[in-house]
Amino acid sequence: MKELDFSGFPPGTITDYTTLVCLACIFDIFTKQIGLAPRSAYSEIKRYSPTIEELTSRTAVRPFFDSDEKHPRCPYCNAAKRWHARLDTHCIEGGKTTDAPRRKLLKSLEKKKDQFALLELKSDRRSAFFAWIDTLRISLDLDDPSWLLDATRAYLERKEPKQDWSAVFEELRTVRPSSRLEESWEREGARLFLAPPLYNESLLVQYLVSRSHEHGGRTLEGRLTLMELIRRMRRGGYLAAHNISTTDQFETFEKLLDEVAGSGQLKLYFVVDRREFLDKVKSVYASYA
Ligand SMILES: [Zn+2]
Repeated sequence: MKELDFSGFPPGTITDYTTLVCLACIFDIFTKQIGLAPRSAYSEIKRYSPTIEELTSRTAVRPFFDSDEKHPRCPYCNAAKRWHARLDTHCIEGGKTTDAPRRKLLKSLEKKKDQFALLELKSDRRSAFFAWIDTLRISLDLDDPSWLLDATRAYLERKEPKQDWSAVFEELRTVRPSSRLEESWEREGARLFLAPPLYNESLLVQYLVSRSHEHGGRTLEGRLTLMELIRRMRRGGYLAAHNISTTDQFETFEKLLDEVAGSGQLKLYFVVDRREFLDKVKSVYASYA
């Protein structure tokens, strides 16, 4: 199956989700619980369209499940692999930078309506930002110290999508705060210098990716608790520059998130790849009937 091409979208604007669905469980629900004959169950299941919640939840419930195994078994009914279908869901963040490539992509899929389900959801920048943080955490290996550079790069890509950050990060060894830049960045040899606001924002992202309840988060400045991170941002003038004057740390944190995540409404566009699902439903029905 040809993969969908998302290369026209800026980095960090697409979130991918994948889940397995057990067709034995679905047939069971439709024939035993709802009482349909196999033939009617088959035509219902072909039309069956899972909700966004079911497709993107990090904890799957029946008939959905997640597994990294090569030959997984359904955790609910023990069915073997030939009964499973993979559903891939791609979420596009709405916005100026994605409007043109999104229209182009969705137009190309319009004629394949049963193969690709297209769904829209009203959301907000804060939720989209945390979905992005979650995806980033899953894609990084936090045991390999180079994740700090990767997380910094991912944040810069999100913040300034027009810049070719892969070129900037090539052969890069360290990222440091600049003592002379007030904005933007510069590269010197194997070092990247970020203006303090940009550097502090990237620390916040590193903190969010790696934070745990007991130990704070890991950053380019070492392990920091929320209090230490805020203190650092206050010292660097970040809070004053963004008119954050509260002394309560959780209120400050909320305001920092508004700065870094952005606030306000946002539309999310979901493309659900149903091709494998349809193929498998057909072959399963053939053996079922
Ligand atoms: Zn099952």
